Amino acid sequence: MITRFAPSPTGPLHLGHAYSAILAHDMARAAGGQFLLRIDDLDQSRARPEWEELIYEDLRWLGLSWDGLRRQSDHFDSYRDAIQTLADTGAVYPCRCSRADITAAASAPQEGVPEFGPDGRIYPGTCRDRAYSERTDTDALRYDLSKAIGTPSQMPTFTETGPAHEGTHKVTAEYLMSHVGDPILARPNLAASYHLSVVIDDAESHVTNVTRGKDLYEATYLQRFLQWKLSLTPPIYHHHRLIRDDAGKRLAKRDDARAIRTYRAEGASPQDIRHMVGL
Ligand code: GLU
Repeated sequence: MITRFAPSPTGPLHLGHAYSAILAHDMARAAGGQFLLRIDDLDQSRARPEWEELIYEDLRWLGLSWDGLRRQSDHFDSYRDAIQTLADTGAVYPCRCSRADITAAASAPQEGVPEFGPDGRIYPGTCRDRAYSERTDTDALRYDLSKAIGTPSQMPTFTETGPAHEGTHKVTAEYLMSHVGDPILARPNLAASYHLSVVIDDAESHVTNVTRGKDLYEATYLQRFLQWKLSLTPPIYHHHRLIRDDAGKRLAKRDDARAIRTYRAEGASPQDIRHMVGL
């Protein structure tokens, strides 16, 4: 078993991160497997070395050790190669739409049809007919789902072991088309999108079990589809409950009050943190 914890170095780790990291770590240790740490610093304009340092410090303080370290910024070529592989099938197109353009072009909301999916607002297809060869440095790259899906009867499945959605799930063409829309593979100034990069990272690190918050469950359909198109071995997924604040809101990076370093400074022990997250 190979698990991983993949924080972005854009702020302090909080209780939600601690929970996720401890779960993935303990799962690997219990199975005699490996626990990997990945620094998700794809967006170099937001990543900071001091946050990365703090990740190492907090995890060590929590008593977690890792068997491998990968930094996304060392693997931009892998992401570009993957995008090229998808582009070679003719299903990638350049997109110049801003968020405002997409909002303006989106059709009026219909009952039961989501406006947003795991890749943001469901793309109305404005640039879909542009040729890949036309792309410029200011374009994003999008994946044309209807072209990419091909024969819908052959769609892939994934296995989930988390409590909320335990079982095997089929990625259907209908779900992708109506709940996700043509996803971004790369923004103009970034080597890859989040969805594309994590799929490559997990595959290249031979991760067998992805443990992460259940806010990413819906994203798994898209990520599994990308793995399938790139012929990558899928991991098993485990989406865990989210740690919430007293008002019931999911913790975010800006919640410094619940940052691990704040608890450390106040004299809490790693055992206290385990208790606080219900472990
Ligand atoms: N860096 C991502 C995050 O912190 C990783 C998500 C994932 O596990 O796929 O949300």
